[in-house]
Amino acid sequence: MRKPVIAANWKMYKTPAQAQEFVTAFLPLVAGQDRAEIVLCPSATSLATVVAAVGGSGIAVGGQNIHQAEEGAYTGETSAQMLTALKVSHVIIGHSERRQYFCETDEIVNQKVHTALKHGLTPILCIGELLEEREAGKTEEVLLKQASIALKGISAEQAKQIVVAYEPVWAIGTGKTATPEMAGEAHFMIRTEIARLQGREVADAIRILYGGSVKPDNAASLLNQPEIDGALVGGASLVAESFAKIVKF
Ligand code: PEP
Repeated sequence: MRKPVIAANWKMYKTPAQAQEFVTAFLPLVAGQDRAEIVLCPSATSLATVVAAVGGSGIAVGGQNIHQAEEGAYTGETSAQMLTALKVSHVIIGHSERRQYFCETDEIVNQKVHTALKHGLTPILCIGELLEEREAGKTEEVLLKQASIALKGISAEQAKQIVVAYEPVWAIGTGKTATPEMAGEAHFMIRTEIARLQGREVADAIRILYGGSVKPDNAASLLNQPEIDGALVGGASLVAESFAKIVKF
């Protein structure tokens, strides 16, 4: 059985004080739940606060991005080592907003996956099609290309540690959600491609999350699909009560 992962992507929201306030409200709401792994991904400036605030609760903390290089003259960037030094365990890689606004290509995403794994960070690797790609019947082609390039040069042992997030770009922050059937079908395509690339054992072990306007009222119908192993949540993860409801789907 794959244990679900429910991850919060706070994007460029919350100061450290607001992040602290969230965790203080959130911890009692999810105390004792062991059904899902919880990952909070605040902005870089709140990482240390959130790591300290979650303490020994078992909640993991992730960054929203890393640079692919070990270190260097890359003003404004964060390295993998900078995250691990803060006891951060996960990192979102290849989010569609990074691909769209910061020119991240599949090749850069692949380099970042390598860098994250080298430093023991669990990549939350995001892939997903644009609306025009879906409408042109290219969803499968796009997903398989993104997955195969992102996993280039990754061993089966490393691949098992990756969490994949299927995030149809048209569903992110739009209030439009893929139907459970559409999401289930995309997850099946992705898992089949992972089996082709890395073998059946890896494909069966890897968690594939759904992301795109997940809310407390649609979480159960999506997360109860057999191919869906959790969620990457943006907007609804900013409020402790809403995110707790999703965690307890
Ligand atoms: C996201 O940012 O990854 C996301 C899925 O956002 P939202 O839940 O707001 O659509």
